[in-house]
Amino acid sequence: MTPSPPVVLLNVDDHEAARYARSRILSAAGFRVYDAGSGEETLALVEKHRPDMILLDVHLPDMNGIEVCRRLKKSRQPDSSIMVLQISASALSAAHAKEALDAGADGYLMEPVDPDVLVATVKALLRLHHAEQSLVHTNRQLEIVNKELQRSNQDLQQFAFAASHDLQEPLRTISVFAQLIEQEMKDSLTERQKGYFERVLDGTGRMQALIHDLLAYSQVGREDRPQAVVEVESAVSAAITNLREQLDAAGSQVQIIQPLPSVWGDFTNLVSVFHNLLSNSLKYRKPESAPIVQIEAKRSSPLEWTISVRDNGIGIASQYRQQIFEPFKRLHGAEIPGTGIGLALCQRIVEGYGGRIWVESALGEGATFCLTLRAA
Ligand code: ADP
Repeated sequence: MTPSPPVVLLNVDDHEAARYARSRILSAAGFRVYDAGSGEETLALVEKHRPDMILLDVHLPDMNGIEVCRRLKKSRQPDSSIMVLQISASALSAAHAKEALDAGADGYLMEPVDPDVLVATVKALLRLHHAEQSLVHTNRQLEIVNKELQRSNQDLQQFAFAASHDLQEPLRTISVFAQLIEQEMKDSLTERQKGYFERVLDGTGRMQALIHDLLAYSQVGREDRPQAVVEVESAVSAAITNLREQLDAAGSQVQIIQPLPSVWGDFTNLVSVFHNLLSNSLKYRKPESAPIVQIEAKRSSPLEWTISVRDNGIGIASQYRQQIFEPFKRLHGAEIPGTGIGLALCQRIVEGYGGRIWVESALGEGATFCLTLRAA
């Protein structure tokens, strides 16, 4: 193990006897001590020895010790700052203590100083200094990592956007030409060949839905929409209007428990959230009963509303309650159409506004999706 470098102190006092006594105490405590008798000498020795701490007498022949402290503190960055322990005769203490601390001094002692108090104060300040330095260092590291993370997130979003956007074109070509061939050969196709075409078109249809949802998902992080006050009820109504045909076909009832609040968010994004939740309540309904959905809001804190969307569908087993928010995570096969992106999109939107989304459910018992949004 390499020995750690000695802690360097600069002991500044124009009174030779006091300076000598203090240096002896500090040397005996294991510090490397240099002496200075004036302000100019102090500034020169700071450059030469780069001390960890200066014990600085207030009264110096050429310069006020507090002024020396001010200059030292001003000229240095937080990560290369030097600790200053200002020392003064007790008769002047009160006024100087405030002035010294205003000038940036880290501590203050009155003469005469007990040797043990002197050493303990120096050690305590050094520990504080060390802790401050590591905090500055950690913060800087954190900033770098944060920037890197933001950059790679943006890259990833841009990649997902470009990839999904560019995939649409060839897919459309496959789908259009497959339909053309099928139409032109309609009369000569065997049942088996018709089945093949059906599977091609079904595959391209699913792929188109996947790309569409992926594009929406990658868009949410990119657009940086400003937040505005949104009436939850109008976002819910817009989602109901979008799904009107499917809701009616399933004989479903959407019950809004009044009043629904105003929240901070973006109208289009919130319509997407309710659209996904309502559309899931249709897809994952119990075959034997018509879907009933209840939408309700509760003030969960002075700053926040919790909005719940409860359905009477097939429910979700407890071990999947978190996983279903991951992109592409589905609990069902092709028998229920879907891409596995809807809930991931909801989560991304809600978390983008500083909220949370979760589900309360048990298998066969319906599901309640809850989301928190900032009260407007
Ligand atoms: P998708 O519906 O396209 O599969 P989602 O991300 O919307 O994708 O949902 C993920 C999975 O969570 C679904 O596949 C389904 O298994 C389950 N799920 C979502 N909503 C409900 C619900 N209301 N009731 C029961 N299961 C649900």
